[in-house]
Amino acid sequence: MNKIYDVIVIGGGPAGILAAISAASENKSVLLLEKLSKIAAKLKATGGGKCNLTNTLSTDEFMAKFGKNGRFMSDALNLFNADALRDFFHGIGVETISRDGFRVFPVNHSSSIILSALDEEIARLGIDVECSVKIDSILKDDEVFTLNSSDKTYTSKNVIIATGGLGYPVLGATGDGYEYAKGFGHKVTETHPAMMPLFTKEKNFAACKADTIAKAILRVDIPKYKKLKLTGDLIFTKEGLRGPVILDFAREITPILAKHKEVPLLINFLKGMNEEDIYSHLKKEIVKNPQHNILQNLETLLATSVATQICNICEVDTNLRFKQIEGVKREKLVKTLAWTPFTITGHDGFKFAMITRGGVDLKQIDPKTMQSKITSGLYFCGEVMNIDGPCGGYNLQWSFSSGFLAGKLKD
Ligand SMILES: Cc1cc2nc3c(=O)[nH]c(=O)nc-3n(C[C@H](O)[C@H](O)[C@H](O)COP(=O)(O)OP(=O)(O)OC[C@H]3O[C@@H](n4cnc5c(N)ncnc54)[C@H](O)[C@@H]3O)c2cc1C
Repeated sequence: MNKIYDVIVIGGGPAGILAAISAASENKSVLLLEKLSKIAAKLKATGGGKCNLTNTLSTDEFMAKFGKNGRFMSDALNLFNADALRDFFHGIGVETISRDGFRVFPVNHSSSIILSALDEEIARLGIDVECSVKIDSILKDDEVFTLNSSDKTYTSKNVIIATGGLGYPVLGATGDGYEYAKGFGHKVTETHPAMMPLFTKEKNFAACKADTIAKAILRVDIPKYKKLKLTGDLIFTKEGLRGPVILDFAREITPILAKHKEVPLLINFLKGMNEEDIYSHLKKEIVKNPQHNILQNLETLLATSVATQICNICEVDTNLRFKQIEGVKREKLVKTLAWTPFTITGHDGFKFAMITRGGVDLKQIDPKTMQSKITSGLYFCGEVMNIDGPCGGYNLQWSFSSGFLAGKLKD
């Protein structure tokens, strides 16, 4: 006869690990099941191997960054916020630090120390862990869940689904949790890849690959989405755009792209200078250096490579002086300098998406417990749910907080 665990956690990512630890700390018998050969593959890769665990924002500021679904996190964060997370890691021997006053990392900037500390804590609490196990079906009968893999059956009083989203499938998450949730009557919202580079129609900016644009301002040039705007550092690639601002903006763009096939963007590379500011800057520059050509003028504002490409778009000869440029082209040049048009045409899909937008519908999950409103004893935590945040430790904190709350197994 199978052992009946108090809880089986499916998925050994940050959410599942914290859920298992939280439940075991309450003296529950816990089995953690992981599909890959080791737990925490994605956690190991986070922050480029440095693991940006969380950040220093207040709970309200933190939730606001998640958009309209942010309030759903309130109970989980009140129970286990960034300070609690840092205390938890301190308690298991990992010191954390925020060198820029915002992003929090383990003090040695290595995710490996996080993984070994979590492994030790799992062992200390007597949590059973089985890796290389893929659950094919979950059934509930007489208050007991039966989980079937191809060669084994597991039983438990509660199940926590912590299987992540769809991004970076090589690191384990392939959407299995959505199917488990649907099996219990849960809705899963449309999913879109998020936090990854974007492709543009314009390929000429590939020549600017070596230059990072600090504080570029991006906005969507579709009236319905005109409020979508973001500022941050941007990098050009052979295929389009990347950099922190693109990673963050991607979660807004991919759902629009799915509907419209192309998304026109306008980008200001000049820290918000408008046409008037640009004219007045150029006027001063011309008085100072009357012999300079337009490219030399623009080099006072932009990297040479970017200035050259903007001149190319406007068919402006870079050897001409500003006053020698035809009026219409001059106007176009200043307009394009203020807002350079780009067209987003695609991306690599989930292959390199650091997170997933969409997931198990929050309406059917109790935010006070993370328990299903449809099936008692069934819980969710982490990225499998329809909630996603920007870069900067937001998504890991959410995974840890929701896992910690789910593991409490409270009705
Ligand atoms: C490259 C990269 C860098 C990132 N860097 C950061 C960062 O620095 N800071 C930050 O806040 N966020 C970062 N993120 C996002 C963050 O890693 C995720 O939001 C977080 O890992 C989600 O945690 P999770 O536990 O919900 O899911 P996951 O971490 O995806 O874990 C889910 C686990 O479930 C397992 N699983 C899936 N299906 C099954 C199944 N059927 N049976 C058993 N097991 C299963 C998977 O193998 C996986 O181990 C990064 C993501 C990536 C890809």
